[in-house]
Amino acid sequence: MLLTIRCTSETPDDLGYLLHKHPERPFHAPLGSWGQSYVVYPENSPQACTASLLLEIDAVGLVRRGGGSALDHYVNDRPYAASSFFSVALNTVYRDALLKKCKHRPELVDRPLPLQATLSVVKSRGGAAFLKQLFEPLGYQVECTPHPLDPTLGWTEAYYFTLVLTAECPLHQLLNHLYVLLPVLDAEKHYYIDERELEKLLSRGEGWLSSHPMKTTIVHRYLNRRAHLTREALARLQEEQAEDAEEVVQKANEAEEKLVRLHDTRLDRVAELLKDSGARQVVDLGCGSGKLLGRLRRFRQFDRVVGMDVSYSSLTAAKDKLRYEEGETRLELVHGSLLYRDSRLQGCEAAALVEVIEHLDPPRLEACQRNLFGYLKPRLVVITTPNRDYNQLFPGLPAGQFRHRDHRFEWTRDEFRAWSDQVAAAYGYRVRLEGLGAEHPELGAPSQMAVFER
Ligand code: SAH
Repeated sequence: MLLTIRCTSETPDDLGYLLHKHPERPFHAPLGSWGQSYVVYPENSPQACTASLLLEIDAVGLVRRGGGSALDHYVNDRPYAASSFFSVALNTVYRDALLKKCKHRPELVDRPLPLQATLSVVKSRGGAAFLKQLFEPLGYQVECTPHPLDPTLGWTEAYYFTLVLTAECPLHQLLNHLYVLLPVLDAEKHYYIDERELEKLLSRGEGWLSSHPMKTTIVHRYLNRRAHLTREALARLQEEQAEDAEEVVQKANEAEEKLVRLHDTRLDRVAELLKDSGARQVVDLGCGSGKLLGRLRRFRQFDRVVGMDVSYSSLTAAKDKLRYEEGETRLELVHGSLLYRDSRLQGCEAAALVEVIEHLDPPRLEACQRNLFGYLKPRLVVITTPNRDYNQLFPGLPAGQFRHRDHRFEWTRDEFRAWSDQVAAAYGYRVRLEGLGAEHPELGAPSQMAVFER
């Protein structure tokens, strides 16, 4: 992992003073038991000075220290993508600069400098859009170059990016922004989140966080979604800028709770339909963390319950959650894609896709249709998807936006009906539609389901 900071001021080597690292002396220091840090200057000319901080994570050392589940020890992106580890490195290697200290040239500290920061790899599940939402309001020109996972396997969806931030600002601002926002991109912080993290967040966020349009998201994620810390942090930021933080969190929580209840309703209904079909072998396509699989496994009628997902980390979560044991015969977890024919799924008489199709863009949805209805041909297919008509009733969901940032579409009831009819006709199925969740008289239920049978 590499962070390069390039300064193009009239006296670019001021950067060396500010970072407390000499351009001609390579720097090296170990970081805890898990990594090594190096600072070198690949460029130091009258036009520009560039400092590179290289962070090397000892993946084996991390495994030995324990933590996390067994599988992702060996398959994880810790050594490659900037994460919460990088913030620790910044706080150690560039500590004085973060704290606005410059012993030899104190006058430089608050001077705005033309700076460009490049992070070789960051992970952003919310894509380039999320990176821009985080950094643009802080005055950066943001360039993101996506790195697709493996185009040869069709895994073109990229959430690893090279990130380039350009701005004219004091160095401490840039470093503090990175210090706070890198862990926001990291859902698996390697340290425990407590009051001390809250204090760090507030001190590093001073002067910019309270007015950031994404502050609720930033605080919530930085504090690992801990509600009481989030509430406290927002309330304290509010002292800087008046806004009713309590209400914001409460609204978000209420909306979230409603959605959780809705999801349970949906999963219960789908499980019931699969059971009533009399099928003995069932598959949950896009099973995520296995919530439906857990329900299905409880019905002894099923001899074989298969969960399939393209996301390896979801399957790992499902394994943990379902306490899956190797050698278990009734439950199978399959790493695969809806876009490809998969003989491992043959024999399944009923299939469910719960909140999955809206994650597929049109060509992929077509490939999925062909596979599912043309190749696997289960007797029963149950598909659920949000009802877009209902979206206006969600508090905090701006008009025209989707419920989840990865959704490629959300269909109105008419659109879902048209798609379902067309698919049923093309592949020789009967289809009926059903609402899921409490119905609004005009806008229908929050979620909708199509039940295909042949
Ligand atoms: N059915 C689960 C998860 C829904 S989220 C639930 O209701 O809780 C959508 C899921 O679809 C994610 O787990 C995602 O990894 C999976 N998915 C998206 N595209 C996929 C594809 N092409 N093949 C298989 N799974 C896919």
